[in-house]
Amino acid sequence: MPRAPRGYSGIYIMESQKKYQQQFSFEFFPPKTAEGADKLVKVRDTLAALKPKYFSVTFGAGGSTQQGTFDTVTSIQGAGFDAAPHLSCVGSTRENIREILKSYMDKGISRIVALRGDMPSGTQDIGEFRFANELVEFIRSETADHFNIEVAAYPEFHPQASSVKDDLNNFKRKVEAGANSAITQYFFNPDAYYRFVEDCEKLDVTLSIVPGIMPITNYTQLARFSDMCGAEIPRWIRKRLEGYGDDKDSIKAFGEEVISEMCQQLLEAGAPGLHFYTMNVTAPTLAIWKNLDL
Ligand code: FAD
Repeated sequence: MPRAPRGYSGIYIMESQKKYQQQFSFEFFPPKTAEGADKLVKVRDTLAALKPKYFSVTFGAGGSTQQGTFDTVTSIQGAGFDAAPHLSCVGSTRENIREILKSYMDKGISRIVALRGDMPSGTQDIGEFRFANELVEFIRSETADHFNIEVAAYPEFHPQASSVKDDLNNFKRKVEAGANSAITQYFFNPDAYYRFVEDCEKLDVTLSIVPGIMPITNYTQLARFSDMCGAEIPRWIRKRLEGYGDDKDSIKAFGEEVISEMCQQLLEAGAPGLHFYTMNVTAPTLAIWKNLDL
């Protein structure tokens, strides 16, 4: 069968992804204060009006937010929405992960984002899991099909990957271990995502790979974070953002436009939804949502 043509920016229609119903999700981090928690309830309720599939809540490196993640997830679930805790395994023991899984099952949580995570600086003991595929395997062996398991995908490749080929094969290991779907690291190069999906198709990896979307609101913070996690800010975006200096309104307007256009293009090319890194605020996500006319 002839394949759909692939060219630059969305001409390639992702057959493996088109078959999934598009779903939208919003990511939070656990608030550190009571005031932050109150604010997050308002953010959650505002975003709930957009009818997301679920809200996910991050898990601090080395389990530093274990209680905060649990509290935030159970608060979301208690308010009648689907919540997905992130769970990273680095530095952890099987017993600890078993207890966490049980605590979530007891609260009726049925979705989890399974990650390796990164070792907090200064810690030596990597614990009983080395990579996320081992965590996925463990979750399946302990809890069978109870959880819908999401894993992380890296269209621009994980910063520690030894090669593109190895990274793709390592992604496949997570899928074979039992992942149901994937969420990507954020990116500003949609072509990296299309090509990643195409490479996965060649490896017979056809699970849903939802693009992770990072709204642009603050250049300095974004540049620092992108360096760490291996997401490239294309020169044309970087130069413009740098040029705006402290002009927050221009950064906001430009960021909204660029990200909205990218999301539109991704959805038209068959992306199975979008996962927004909300940073616990509504405005940037809402602005993009409105532009997409979803
Ligand atoms: P893995 O899939 O284990 O991959 C890590 C590296 O090891 C890659 O280079 C891979 O190629 C290599 N590798 C994988 N398996 C093998 C193997 N079997 N043998 C040899 N090499 C292998 N971090 C947090 O701390 N908390 C969070 O809540 C969090 N949420 C995230 C959500 C999303 C959607 C994404 C994309 C990332 C998130 N992260 C989070 C960041 C993530 O923990 C880091 O990127 C981490 O460095 C890798 O985690 P992973 O699950 O992708 O690891």
